[in-house]
Amino acid sequence: MAYLKYTVNNHQGVYDIRVFSVQESYVPNNRKNGNRASVALKEKKQFLSFMGKTKQITHELKMRYGMNCDFAGNPFLAECVQKISNVFDNLFGRSSLPRSVTCEPLFYGILGTFYHQNKSISFNSNSSCFDNMEKLKEESESAYHFLLPNEFSSLHPACTFVHEFSHSAHYDNLAKHWGDACSIMEELRHTQVPTVIGRLITRFKLGNYALDQDGGMNEFMAERMTQDICKGLTYNSWLYVNNRDNVKYSDIFERKWDCRYSSPQSYLDYYTQQVWNGDIREAENAAGKIERYLAELDAERVPKAVSTPVSQIHAAGIPILDKIANGVSSFFENLTEKLDNRNRLTMK
Ligand SMILES: [Zn+2]
Repeated sequence: MAYLKYTVNNHQGVYDIRVFSVQESYVPNNRKNGNRASVALKEKKQFLSFMGKTKQITHELKMRYGMNCDFAGNPFLAECVQKISNVFDNLFGRSSLPRSVTCEPLFYGILGTFYHQNKSISFNSNSSCFDNMEKLKEESESAYHFLLPNEFSSLHPACTFVHEFSHSAHYDNLAKHWGDACSIMEELRHTQVPTVIGRLITRFKLGNYALDQDGGMNEFMAERMTQDICKGLTYNSWLYVNNRDNVKYSDIFERKWDCRYSSPQSYLDYYTQQVWNGDIREAENAAGKIERYLAELDAERVPKAVSTPVSQIHAAGIPILDKIANGVSSFFENLTEKLDNRNRLTMK
């Protein structure tokens, strides 16, 4: 298994990028069995049942939420989208849901994308993690632990669904505030999350994806929501059981902290509130306040003991340490080169 990170660029702009595992193409389970005549009828019945179930969920989502869905006959994906749609309807209202959800071949390695131009979500039909719950759980946990640790903000199997639907809910809130959500999202995408917020992100164990350079503030928001919502979701049924106020970002700073800056979490919440409401200028002002606050915290800390510089270890003539250091650095150089090459290959 290998995990890579991709930049996706096409005629509609740069979209969501998710870390992935190398997987075989999605093939409906009914087609994976052998071709013995004795199982043909059973397979056909099973296939019709899958199609029936997928069709039924597609119909229900259309009737209940007005969503246009095409799950390419994948009943498990349809079930996941139905469950997460119910969660977002309960937490943020019907208008937070995407206009459409599709399952289609995306670039190798991408799990899902949100297209803010038409408020729609696509999941990758080439990804086997949408085959069943076991594979989905395996994906979220292994992606978190292997090669790119701390990339996601949650280990919950629903994390990819929550992440993409969070973009849609964010879009909806921007539309309510500004009317033209599309151009605000575009601006947020091009506004980088400052380094000082990165320190808070690390402190509160948000995934590194929150600092994704191609997604800017949009990815920060989606990862913050992924962490908060997944913390409240039951593992198998995906029912939200935590306090709903945890995800009321429009006035989270006013409500939770009574407009007082008193802790790193209060600063992070203040920043989150500005990004959620699309107030880029205030979000950038917040970064200045946070920088001063963290500098004060740093000054209060007792300075750590100075460690032995690497040059002195070399001078002490310990060849084995040199070998280890060289090995580790060449491993990462090779890896970076491979990832860069891969990024170049997939740019369009
Ligand atoms: Zn995203």
